[in-house]
Parts: sequence; C-alpha cells; structure tokens
Amino acid sequence: MSSNQGLKNKGKTRADMDERRRAVEESTGVHLEHSGGCTFDPLLAEKNVENMIGCTQVPLGFVGPLRVRGDHADGEFLVPLATTEGALLASVNRGTSIVTSCGGAEVVIIKDEMTRAPVFRTGGVRQARQVVEWVNEHFEEIKAAAEATTRHGRLLKIRAFASGRSLFLRFSYDTGDAMGMNMATIATEAASRLIEERTEARMVSVSGNMCVDKKPAALNFIEGRGKIVLADVRIPEAVVRDRLHATPGAMVEACYRKNLVGSALSLCYGSNAHAANMLAALFIATGQDAAQVVEGSMASTTCELCEEGVYISVRLPCLEVGTVGGGTRLPCQSEALSMMGCLGTGKAKKLAEIAGALVLAGELSTLAAQAAGELGRAHRELGR
Ligand code: NAP
Repeated sequence: MSSNQGLKNKGKTRADMDERRRAVEESTGVHLEHSGGCTFDPLLAEKNVENMIGCTQVPLGFVGPLRVRGDHADGEFLVPLATTEGALLASVNRGTSIVTSCGGAEVVIIKDEMTRAPVFRTGGVRQARQVVEWVNEHFEEIKAAAEATTRHGRLLKIRAFASGRSLFLRFSYDTGDAMGMNMATIATEAASRLIEERTEARMVSVSGNMCVDKKPAALNFIEGRGKIVLADVRIPEAVVRDRLHATPGAMVEACYRKNLVGSALSLCYGSNAHAANMLAALFIATGQDAAQVVEGSMASTTCELCEEGVYISVRLPCLEVGTVGGGTRLPCQSEALSMMGCLGTGKAKKLAEIAGALVLAGELSTLAAQAAGELGRAHRELGR
C-alpha cells in the first residue's frame, strides 16, 4: 500500500473503514482485531479523523462524587477519566472524597478568551506601527469581518507585537461553548484578509506561534488562554492526619520544596504536582483536544497553613475546553460529558469549573501522598 493510498480512499462509511483497515492489515501483517471493533457509525467521526481504520479503546473509569461550588457547576459530580496509568484514579478519587467531605471546592473562572495570532510581513518597523494604528482605528470593521464567519464567536480584542518586519496580531475571542480553535482560526483568517486589503501588511501564516497553541509558553502562562480557572479548599487538621496520613506542616513543606523550589530550579511553567494527569484523562474521556494538555499542564498549586489545617489552591491559566464541536460530538465522549450534565450549549464553563475542582483534588491527594512518603507504595501496589 502506498503511503497516501488511505487518503485517496476518502470514503467515510463503515465499509470504507473496513476496506482501509484490511489494506493496512495486509501491508503490516498485523491483525487489528480490537481496533476494528468500533461500535458507532464511522460517519459520525468524519470531521474528527481522516484515514479511519477503527477506534482505540482507552480504559474509562470515574472519580467522585466531587462537590464543586462554582458559578456554573454547583453540586456533586461523577467525573469520567480515561487513562492507562494505574493508581491515578485511586489517588484522584481519594482527593475527591476529601474535597467533598470538606464542603467542596470553591471554583471561579476569571477570564475566558481563545486566541489566534497571525504573523504579517511589513516593510519595516515604521510601516508596522502604521499597520497597528490602522488596526486600532478600524477595530469595529475587523470585528465585523471576523464575526461574519461564526454565529457564536465574538472578537474581544487584538494585541500587537512587532519585531523587525514581522508583525503579530493576537486576536482574542469569546468562543461560546466551543473550545474555539477552528472558530478563531476561520474568523482570524477573514479579518486578516481585510487587513491585507487595506494596509501594506501581508499575512505569512494565520498562526504565528504567538497564539500559543499546543506549546508551553510564558505568554499563555501570564495572559491565559481559554479559561483561567482558580479553585481552593480548606482541609481540617484531623482530616489531614486521619485520612491523608500526613501533617499540615509536612504538606506545606512538600509543596514548597517540590512545587515551588523544584519547579523554579527546573524553570517549569507553573508549579504543580501532576495537573496534566487529571486533565489528560478528562480530555481523552470527554473529547477535548488532547494536545492542549500542554497548556493545561502549566498550573500553579499552593499550600499553606490555615486556622483549620491546610489551605490548598490551584490556578489553571489555560484551560481550553468545550462542550460542543471537536471531539465532544463523538458517542463515547458525549456520554462522558452527559455524566456530568456537561454536553452541549451553555455547559463549557460548567465543565471548566469541574475540571478545576478535579485538578485540585488530584493535587491534594498526590501532595499528601508525597508528604506521607506513600507515593512509591501506591504505584507499586496499584500500577504494577
Ligand atoms: P468546531 O467543531 O470546529 O466548531 C464549533 C461549532 O459549533 C461551530 O460550527 C459553531 O457554530 C457551533 N456551535 C453550536 N453551538 C455553539 C455554542 N453554544 N457555542 C459555540 N459554538 C457553537 O469546534 P472549535 O471549538 O472551533 O474547534 C475545535 C476543533 O479544532 C477540535 O477538533 C480541535 O482539534 C481543532 N483544532 C483546530 C485548530 C486549527 O488551527 N484550526 C487548532 C487546534 C485544534 P458557529 O461557528 O457558527 O458559531
């Protein structure tokens, strides 16, 4: 089979998928018995994958009930997580149980903007400044051009960054309940065509890497991308001792030396124990774009003594999630979203708040395990 044979066979039906898989089996000599066992109509995935030959099955579990006290998610939730990492759900579940029994996680969203930043070529620094002035003066016109491509997307602002002949315009959107990358890209392309027509600037790429999509970056860490979510909880000292087998002091020290000093010395973006673990498992289960765990991983976890015992918080500057579009429309992923009442219109902020509480629960449990010296044992017993 030639390397592009699959793409030439563009059919999306089950028969097309089976035929393509048989060709791959013949070419590789591997019988794809399990990968072929796709329970849904492959046509449902036509916007999600090309060259479809089957489905990868990732084990799915749940944690909870997780009590969330957000503005959009207020109640107890069973949270679906898909992973192959043994011990992960056991640990997060311990965290959810503690968070819930301590009254739940307080969660707030403080910003919600998806970005796309095209790069333009200009004649030089003076011309770049003229283009930026034109963009600022004609924002409403640019906004209209962008918003003509979408019913839900709203252009909020454009920030300019110039260097030599390169001019970056960072477009920020409210993308409703969609994660918004396709939406923002299509809208930005339309707006950029208008800028090209009316100025000397020429767009080189609709994505100029100041977006910043799927790459760790200080810009995202500071400015945020997607939703900025904050969550916290207070754990009484007795609970820390009896159920987490640690002391408040040991947890604070573990957080300080590991999350803060360790992350600073290794120049991590963020300072957390394993935020990416909870987000990757949630993203895979609910049809989010898994590559955006890169941005999600830049979380900051703090832990300090408080009157009751221990105060712990997480700051997620880049939570890029949606409840419509992308992978959310696939059957398993829709079911997982429905488990939390998070499928469809009006649910993206609810999902983001649950995700914030989930990360908090996972951080709490792992931090306590490390403070109590239990991490290795848990992985030995559950993961091997
Ligand atoms: P999408 O599925 O491409 O678009 C969302 C769709 O949902 C739009 O057609 C939108 O209509 C519609 N919609 C219906 N109700 C909505 C509501 N309440 N809120 C918002 N939209 C609503 O999804 P996307 O989130 O824009 O893009 C996600 C996909 O982009 C993922 O598959 C991801 O892997 C991929 N991606 C693309 C790029 C890229 O550069 N293009 C980069 C990274 C990831 P209207 O637009 O008319 O409002």
